[in-house]
Amino acid sequence: MLVLEYKVKGKQQQYRAIDEAIRTTQFIRNKAIRHWMDAPKEQKVDKIALNNYSTALRKEFGFVKNLNSMACQAATERAWLSIARFYDNCKAKKPGKKGFPRFQKDNRSVEYKTSGWSLHPTKRRIAFTDKKGIGELKLLGKWDIHTYPVKLIKRVRLVRRADGYYCQFAVDVEVKTERRIGNDEIGLDVGLEYFYSDSNGHHQENPRFLRKAEKAIKHAQRQIYKKEKGKNQRRKARHRYARKHLRVNRQRNEHAKRIARNLCKSNDLVAYENLNVKGMVKNHCLAKCINDVAWTLFRRWLEYFAVKFNTTVVAVNPRMTSQKCSDCGTIVKKSLSTRTHRCSCGCELQRDVNAAINILNLARARDGQSRSNATGVGTATLIGETLLEQVAT
Ligand SMILES: [Zn+2]
Repeated sequence: MLVLEYKVKGKQQQYRAIDEAIRTTQFIRNKAIRHWMDAPKEQKVDKIALNNYSTALRKEFGFVKNLNSMACQAATERAWLSIARFYDNCKAKKPGKKGFPRFQKDNRSVEYKTSGWSLHPTKRRIAFTDKKGIGELKLLGKWDIHTYPVKLIKRVRLVRRADGYYCQFAVDVEVKTERRIGNDEIGLDVGLEYFYSDSNGHHQENPRFLRKAEKAIKHAQRQIYKKEKGKNQRRKARHRYARKHLRVNRQRNEHAKRIARNLCKSNDLVAYENLNVKGMVKNHCLAKCINDVAWTLFRRWLEYFAVKFNTTVVAVNPRMTSQKCSDCGTIVKKSLSTRTHRCSCGCELQRDVNAAINILNLARARDGQSRSNATGVGTATLIGETLLEQVAT
C-alpha cells in the first residue's frame, strides 16, 4: 500500500463541512464502542455486528445518514480496531494495562473507501459526493494520483492539521524496491553527543534546528497561558503553538528519513542498539535528548527503507557494547564521562565508535533469531506524513 498526500484547498464553508464529517466519524466510532460495552454478555459484538450497527445509526440520525455509507463503516471499523487490540492484549496476557477502548475526543480525520468521492478526469481535483456538502476540493501537491487506476485507490482520507486540511490516498501497489548502491556493513551507536556514531568512525551531528525550535515552542506555549481562558486571543495563541509544533515534527521527520534512507541505500547490513526508549524516557534529562535525536522515528524509517532497498537491519542487545574492547574482547570499564576507549591490547578508539564496532560484530554473529523487526509489516503505511501522524499522536 502506498500513501500519497495532498494539501487541499477549498472555501471556508467546505472546511466546515469537512469538520462536520470528522465529527460524525467520531460520533459513530464512539457510539460503536458504547454499543460494544453495553451489549449483554451472551450477545457477540464483532466486526460484522458493528457494521450492522452503523446501518442502524444511519436510520436513527440524519447527520449520520448524510455521510457516505462506506465512510460510516470505516468509522465502526476504527472502533473494532481498538476493541480487537484490547482483546489481543488480553489474550497475549500482556503485562500492565490492556488498552481498554476509550472514547475519542480529538478525532482529526474522516475516511472514505471506494465510494462517496470522484476524481476529476484531468485536473487535480476531488469531489465528495455524499450529503455532507464538502464538494469539490483542489489538490495541491507534487504527486500524480492520476497515474494510478482509480480501482487501485482503496481509501481516501481527509485529515485536519494545524495548518490546514489534507487528503491522503491509499493506493494498492507494491512499494518499489530501489537499487542499493553499496554493500557495506555498518554498526550504529546512539549517543547523546551525536545523533549516532558509526563503526567507520563517522559521527553524525545532532540536528541543531531542534534546539532552536524548542525555544520558540516554549515561548509560544507560555503565550497561551498569558491569555485569558475562553478568549479569542488564547485560541489564536494555541493555534500558533500547534503550528510551530507541526513544523518541528516535520523537520525532525525529514531529518530522520534522509539519514535512514542514505544508510539503507549504501549498506547491506545496518546494525543498531535495541534501545528500550520507553524505559529510558523516565530519566528526565535523557528524555529530552532522546526526544531530540528522534530515535524512534529514525528507527522506524530504517525499517521502512530496509524493505525498500532490501537491506538487512538488525537490532542487537546493547549490553556491554560500550565496555568491551572491539579488538580483543576484554572488558574495559569506563564511566559515562570517559570519552576514549583505551585497551591494554593497544586498541584506542573514540568511545562510541568502539561501541558501534561491537554492535556490528554482534549483528554479524547473530543466530537468526535476533533478525530485524523489519518484516515490512506495518511499514507500508509509513510513508511521509502518515508516519509523522502516527508518531505525533
Ligand atoms: Zn583490546
